[in-house]
Amino acid sequence: MKSHLIFIGAPGSGKGTQATRFVSEKNFKHISTGDLLRAEIAKKSELGIEVKSVMDSGQLVSDNLVIRLLQANINLEDSQYIFDGYPRNIAQSMTLDGEVLKDSKSIAVYFKIDISKLVQRLTNRRTCKDCGAIYNLVSKKPKIEGKCDQCGGTNLIQRADDKEEVIENRLKVFQETVNPVLKYYQDLGRLIEVNAEESPDVIFNMISSKV
Ligand code: AMP
Repeated sequence: MKSHLIFIGAPGSGKGTQATRFVSEKNFKHISTGDLLRAEIAKKSELGIEVKSVMDSGQLVSDNLVIRLLQANINLEDSQYIFDGYPRNIAQSMTLDGEVLKDSKSIAVYFKIDISKLVQRLTNRRTCKDCGAIYNLVSKKPKIEGKCDQCGGTNLIQRADDKEEVIENRLKVFQETVNPVLKYYQDLGRLIEVNAEESPDVIFNMISSKV
């Protein structure tokens, strides 16, 4: 049985970019709790309305709510998944193992990066509203300004929480919560670390060699 992958890393450390590649080249499915929550906000569902202000401030939403959303959107039967943005704390790690993955194998991948490099990455991040492709206005511009290379869509948007004042809070929350999560996987012998400052190709090959 192949391993699922659990991507752990600060906002902007490149988890989404790698996930996109693993989906297209290795047949993984990508589940991002942040994307699921943003979809609820876009739909203006009851849940979306409930979480909007928490997300816009850069805080974490409740464990209970996120696990319900995650459970409703995965089917582990015949797919290998990338978990992106979940778990964010040790309680979520334990829930993922005990209630979601159960006997399935999984490896956690830590995207290690100097936090001071992330503010610029995040303020320049743009996402295609139609297909989710990720761009950076400095390091990975779309070939035609304002137009998605992948799907031709013209809605390259900035996430509500990629504004400078919120980014600082998100990075702080990350730094305050990540160590116990890393220790959890380390103690179980299920943690690998990648240098997230390397090129996307190098990171992709490094992770691929472990699964
Ligand atoms: P992300 O797209 O992973 O950066 O997540 C964006 C925001 O969604 C976070 O700042 C949180 O408010 C919320 N969020 C996403 N995943 C989780 C999670 N596993 N637990 C709690 N909140 C989450």
